[in-house]
Amino acid sequence: RGTRLFYTPDMEGQPAEVLQQEHLLREAVFHDALELHYQPQVQVASGRLVGLEALVRWRHPQRGLVGPDDFIPLAESRGLITPIGRWVLREACRQLKAWHNEGLALVPVAVNLSAIEFRQRDVAGEIARVLQETGLEPQYLEVEITETTLMQHAEHTRATLQALQAMGVAVTVDDFGTGYSSLTYLKRYPLDKLKVDRSFVADTPADGDDVAIVTAIVQLARSLQLQSVAEGVQTTEQLTLLQSLGCELAQGFGIAPPMDVRRTRAWLHALPAA
Ligand code: C2E
Ligand code: CA
Ligand code: CA
Ligand code: CA
Repeated sequence: RGTRLFYTPDMEGQPAEVLQQEHLLREAVFHDALELHYQPQVQVASGRLVGLEALVRWRHPQRGLVGPDDFIPLAESRGLITPIGRWVLREACRQLKAWHNEGLALVPVAVNLSAIEFRQRDVAGEIARVLQETGLEPQYLEVEITETTLMQHAEHTRATLQALQAMGVAVTVDDFGTGYSSLTYLKRYPLDKLKVDRSFVADTPADGDDVAIVTAIVQLARSLQLQSVAEGVQTTEQLTLLQSLGCELAQGFGIAPPMDVRRTRAWLHALPAA
């Protein structure tokens, strides 16, 4: 306590708080203090389960359960995002395969990859290895990446997305409409889904501008033969609107929140038999 466990020149002048959090996060990564929660994704028209999104959390010794927005940026700046990302990928595949073996959750799991991870890692090679090692079939894994990721490093991005497509791993554009607004990547790369950012969904149906934006994104997706997913769906009015717009898939607290493994399993058990 109070003593530095390691020292590098770039840490000089850093607030002790940041160093301590980094140290704790490093411990968490290597001592199993991360966990995945899962949020169901459903078909709007039928309510049928079509997927689970894996969302990482950190069981912090003092602060309890900490969300990714509070530690992914730290992880990225401290070289910890690679081990975290590897753990997330492997754990999501392992868990889904375990549920499959129980006859549960015969739907894909979606894993989030930040731009830094996508750039730094041989994502396609790693995914191929993890699928092989866990025995999960490739059609049961999806990756979610943002527009920002798609706008960088065209050669690497193309090669990675083509490799994923060849493997049968689907790719979703996350937070669609909030990044750099070039649409060229939509025709340049093999993509599968557009996920309407929850900031556009939140004030529908009351806010006419937001309704117009969601309508346009759903239509754009349809004309490019991509599926559209609305995130952050909280009310039945939103679900009704999405259905009338022809948005295929939805996710949000109004359908089901992200849940820990135990609650996800109970939720899956309570589903009507397919
Ligand atoms: P995201 O990919 O856009 O994930 C959706 C976020 O919205 C999640 O926050 C989820 O809990 C929250 N959410 C779901 N339904 C609703 C709703 O109805 N209303 C509202 N207001 N929020 C809702 P979370 O889990 O805190 O994750 C935040 C972000 O952290 C994610 O945004 C994603 O970009 C990133 N993230 C999560 N897990 C990972 C991971 O394993 N690796 C990386 N690189 N990033 C991750
Ligand atoms: Ca996501
Ligand atoms: Ca999102
Ligand atoms: Ca986000």
